[in-house]
Amino acid sequence: MISLHGLTKVFPGGVRALDGIDLTIGDGEFFALLGPSGCGKTTLLRTIAGLETAGSGTISINQRDVTCLPPGRRNVAMVFQDYALFPHMDVTENIAYPLRIRKVPRAERLAKAADVARRLSLSELLRRRPAQLSGGQQQRVALARAIACHPTAFLFDEPLSNLDARLRLEARTFLKRLQRELAVTTVFVTHDQAEALALADRIAVMSRGRMIQVGTPAEVFQRPATTFVASFIGSTPMNLLPARAAGGSLYAAGAVLPAPAGLTDGDDLVYGVRPEYMDLSPTERPDAFPGTVSVLENLGTSTLVTLEEGGTFVQAVVDEGDEPRLGDHAWAVPRRALVYRDGELLAP
Ligand code: ATP
Repeated sequence: MISLHGLTKVFPGGVRALDGIDLTIGDGEFFALLGPSGCGKTTLLRTIAGLETAGSGTISINQRDVTCLPPGRRNVAMVFQDYALFPHMDVTENIAYPLRIRKVPRAERLAKAADVARRLSLSELLRRRPAQLSGGQQQRVALARAIACHPTAFLFDEPLSNLDARLRLEARTFLKRLQRELAVTTVFVTHDQAEALALADRIAVMSRGRMIQVGTPAEVFQRPATTFVASFIGSTPMNLLPARAAGGSLYAAGAVLPAPAGLTDGDDLVYGVRPEYMDLSPTERPDAFPGTVSVLENLGTSTLVTLEEGGTFVQAVVDEGDEPRLGDHAWAVPRRALVYRDGELLAP
């Protein structure tokens, strides 16, 4: 278990990379730190690893306060974006290196390296050097090296970002299976929301050194706590439409919708609907967003339809075969919506 309390980090020059982080990551949990570039993900991971010193706050790993311990005494294994393999060592030597540092006898560390290499399908490659391996193979060697030391936790910094799109999907499934098998607490940094949703047990969405929302992929996807999270999560961006309340109804982009309780006329509101939760109607309805079909994007088994009306765009995903034609007039009917006031999700 990893517990962080009140972690703050200000870099020279005044960048507040971590701004009061409180977080508990459970034993065996696969935990993603997600957020846009510069939000502090890598700094947080490096602070857990001991490669950065926090300005204030505490870090404990398995009930042991490690705040002041050097990286080598925290028993965590960090896998970097560029894998940081030693170019002059072969695969076996790379995997066994941390064991050599710990003075594990030679025969034992070679046996251990061979064992881990087998689990990661690297047995054929033991004599090769990193330059003779593909990106995916290098990544597996870096993982094998991390696993060989039996760490309390794995810390991954964008572990899949150097792989091409197809290999990345394969490596994702592989990583998830491996983490389940090993059941080692894992924290990984990504700026790819699809990767975080697919891999993690829980996700922390960060912005400007703070955690904006922590939850399961389903929670973060279904109920984004703020409009920032809503716009960041989802492979097609959520429709976020300015709205106003009047007389118990909500008015947004030409539709009249039921308003949640407790709204005051004049509140600054946003009506949020995922394109996947919109239906298209060919006939007019008051509770739907009208528009002219201006763009059709093929998503494989479905199509993303953009409706345009008076400078406002609304998107809906429709099943294969149900697409309207360009220039058609249509109405997008929300099936499931969220309402935000001052950027924060209102409880339904
Ligand atoms: P990315 O996805 O681009 O790697 P990130 O979310 O991992 O971004 P960090 O690398 O943690 O972000 O950086 C957080 C903030 O701290 C950024 O504004 C960055 O410019 C700043 N920063 C990071 N390292 C240093 C440093 N050594 N000195 C000064 N500022 C730094």
